[in-house]
Amino acid sequence: MLEIKNLRAEIEGQEILKGLNLSIGPGEVHAIMGPNGSGKSTLAHVLTGREGYEVTGGEVLFQGRNVLEMEPEERAALGMFLAFQYPVEIPGVTMTTFLKEAVNSIRKARGEKEIDALQFTKELRERCKLLNISQDMLRRSVNTGFSGGEKKRAEVLQMAALEPKLAILDETDSGLDIDALKTVSDGVNRLRSPERSMLVITHYQRLLNYIVPDRVHVMVRGQIVKSGDKNLALQLEEQGYAEFAEEAAA
Ligand code: ADP
Ligand code: MG
Ligand code: MG
Repeated sequence: MLEIKNLRAEIEGQEILKGLNLSIGPGEVHAIMGPNGSGKSTLAHVLTGREGYEVTGGEVLFQGRNVLEMEPEERAALGMFLAFQYPVEIPGVTMTTFLKEAVNSIRKARGEKEIDALQFTKELRERCKLLNISQDMLRRSVNTGFSGGEKKRAEVLQMAALEPKLAILDETDSGLDIDALKTVSDGVNRLRSPERSMLVITHYQRLLNYIVPDRVHVMVRGQIVKSGDKNLALQLEEQGYAEFAEEAAA
C-alpha cells in the first residue's frame, strides 16, 4: 500500500527527515512513536503533500505510484487522508455540507460525477450510528463550539465519509480525555478493513492500548531506529526514548 524509501525532507533549509524507510501492507495498522521534535508530523505532512517542506531525496510509493510529484488533491483522490490536525472552524457551514463537498471534490478529481445528496445524507446518518456519534453533529457548523472530543469525532466521521485507502492519524500533543479517547479509538477500529491501511502517529503509548497496531516503529531524529510488534510500545513506555536515541546516535 505504502512504501517509503530513504525519504529526506527539509524545513527552511534544515533537514528533518534523514533517510526514512517504512513499508505498510494493505489492511495493516502501523504506529509511529517518538519524542517531541523527532519529525513525526513532518512525515505526515510530507506524505500528504503539504506545502512548506522540501523533499530532497527518496521515494514515496502509494499503491506503486510515486506521489511526491503530485498535488495534495491528487493524493487525496488516490485515497490518502490525514486526520487529527488542528481543525478549522467554519461558521455557517454544516457538517453535512462540508463532508459532501469534501467527498465531491475527491470524486471530481477522480473524474466521477457528484454524489446524490439524499443518498449521501442517508449514508452519513448510518455512519453516525455505526461510529456512535450523535446525528445532531451533522446539522452543526463545522467545529464551531465543538469540544476537543467532538472535534476528534468529527474527524473520525470525515474519515468514514471519505473512505480512504490510507489513513494517517497524527495525534496532536494536547491529547484526549479518556472518554474521548475511547470513542475515537472505537471509531477508528470500526474503520479498520482489509482494504484500508492506517498509520497512527503518537507521542503517547496509551492510544495504542485502544488502537492495537500490527507494527510499531520508533522514530528518532528523522529516522526509524527500531521496529517491532505492539510490545515495543509497552517497552517504550517503560524505558523511555533515551536508549533508542543513543542507539540511533551510535
Ligand atoms: P514531532 O511531530 O515529532 O513532534 P515535528 O515534525 O513537528 O516533530 O518537528 C520536527 C522538527 O522540525 C522540530 O525540530 C521542529 O522544531 C521543526 N519544525 C517543525 N515545523 C517547523 C516549521 N514550520 N518551521 C521550522 N521548523 C519546524
Ligand atoms: Mg510535536
Ligand atoms: Mg507532531
